[in-house]
Amino acid sequence: QKCIPKNMVQAAIKNVEKLAEQKNIFINSYYALEDNEYVAADYDKTIWVINNFLTNAIKYSFHDEKIQVSVEKIDSMILFSITDTGKGIEEKYHRQVFDRYFQVPGEHHNGTGLGLAISKNFIEKQHGEIGVKSSIKQGSTFYFKLPLLKNNE
Ligand code: ATP
Ligand code: MG
Repeated sequence: QKCIPKNMVQAAIKNVEKLAEQKNIFINSYYALEDNEYVAADYDKTIWVINNFLTNAIKYSFHDEKIQVSVEKIDSMILFSITDTGKGIEEKYHRQVFDRYFQVPGEHHNGTGLGLAISKNFIEKQHGEIGVKSSIKQGSTFYFKLPLLKNNE
């Protein structure tokens, strides 16, 4: 499927609007793509992933913080990143957060620990790549890359 990244991000942000308002969190977005640049992906599944990243970012942020969503082109891929300024994740857990049922120990969580495992599965099935950059107390950036499509492709 040929999808417009901006539309997917906007749909996902709309889904979490209420949740963000409850913590007075502002979601800012940035799109660095040309009009003829699309992403090759399943529209609904990709929104699901962005939604999961945003829900996590809100859940693990403090009140009154900001979340940054950005979409840019890197080589032949489109990079989506969601950055929060929340509690962060220790480096030793960076791989495990994508495992089924894994939640960072020593914290009170709600949810099942499945969101990121499902996200990884979706993205990898769509020939993409998923990852996290984070350090404790510095916030987190969760990102994924999916193949770029140009208008005439
Ligand atoms: P679910 O998504 O199934 O409702 P969940 O949010 O706990 O539950 P995942 O989305 O898979 O599960 O995330 C796994 C774990 O990774 C979380 O429990 C949390 O410990 C950690 N985590 C995920 N996103 C963030 C983030 N933005 N900041 C800090 N920790 C995070
Ligand atoms: Mg989650």
